[in-house]
Amino acid sequence: MAGSLGEFELIRRYFTRPPPADGTGGGVILGVGDDAAVLRVPDGEDLVAAVDSLVEGRHFPAGSDPRSVGYRALAVNLSDLAAMGAVPRWALLALTLPAAEPAWLEPFAAGFMLAADRHGVALVGGNTTAGPLNVGVQILGTVPRGTALLRSGARPGDVVAVTGTLGDAAAGLELILHPERSRAAPDAARELVARFEYPTPRVAFGCVARGIASAAMDLSDGLAGDLAKLAAASGVGAHLAIERLPLSSALLAAWPEPQARDFALAGGEDYELLLCVRPQRYQELAQAATRCGVALTRVGEVRAGTGVSGALDGRPVQVPAGGYDHFR
Ligand code: ADP
Ligand code: MG
Repeated sequence: MAGSLGEFELIRRYFTRPPPADGTGGGVILGVGDDAAVLRVPDGEDLVAAVDSLVEGRHFPAGSDPRSVGYRALAVNLSDLAAMGAVPRWALLALTLPAAEPAWLEPFAAGFMLAADRHGVALVGGNTTAGPLNVGVQILGTVPRGTALLRSGARPGDVVAVTGTLGDAAAGLELILHPERSRAAPDAARELVARFEYPTPRVAFGCVARGIASAAMDLSDGLAGDLAKLAAASGVGAHLAIERLPLSSALLAAWPEPQARDFALAGGEDYELLLCVRPQRYQELAQAATRCGVALTRVGEVRAGTGVSGALDGRPVQVPAGGYDHFR
């Protein structure tokens, strides 16, 4: 591609790293540099693959800090693997960018590698081309054969639980786009913006939840819409106890109820895990979460039927039908 750096030099400088020092190479037979990567799936494991693109102006505001864009592009993919209970191993990066400027590429690559190093992921290839900014990441991971955690395993009577707190990232994005709409103190505002820019994929917990939870997915489009998707995949309905939704003090300070709750139900961008678990195994799941340093909150139950219902302190309330839909 054209730009202030040649394509070859750009790839060499920012996206090529020596294999990990532990000598195993993490299953990478051949990484960046040939026509394709050669990877070795461990014996007895299934390959788990996902891809997600971040488009400027749609998934992140134009002019965003490139470090956050790089981090987030991998983190949202890690979150998909966490939801499957998979160990993330390898990533490919399809990068379309207007110009090859070191001032943008350097922090972008640093953010990407920060997320990669935190989760032991090797960047094994990609593609670089000129055009409007678009960051596509493919992630590959593994699970012991036949054990991937699916959306379709929920049964009536299961507990519905979520990790972390909900609504912070959506509130953070709102603060970036419309700072005048909140009277959030600077500390709370910073915390919410950080939750949007640096989501924390629940990778370690996803792996231990596999084998305990009956179903899982990650929350990218808002709890209400995502729970409806999980319920539909399982052929069941679900009920939410709205007063139980875990809301951070930063969110409540920036947007008091009922707005905080709306962010939590329909905001999106949380990258927390939504899990269903048989009631007799809930304690085991909660203890596993504690060991991973992750908060787990029981927010509802799976019921026979279809759709998502809700109640606030026992009074039935309407749950917003959909989460975020890119084509609406
Ligand atoms: P090809 O033309 O065969 O697709 P390229 O010349 O585009 O190969 O890329 C050369 C090597 O660099 C390949 O191994 C490719 O996977 C890798 N690569 C290209 N862009 C990136 C990137 N943004 N991040 C990581 N690896 C990349
Ligand atoms: Mg080729």
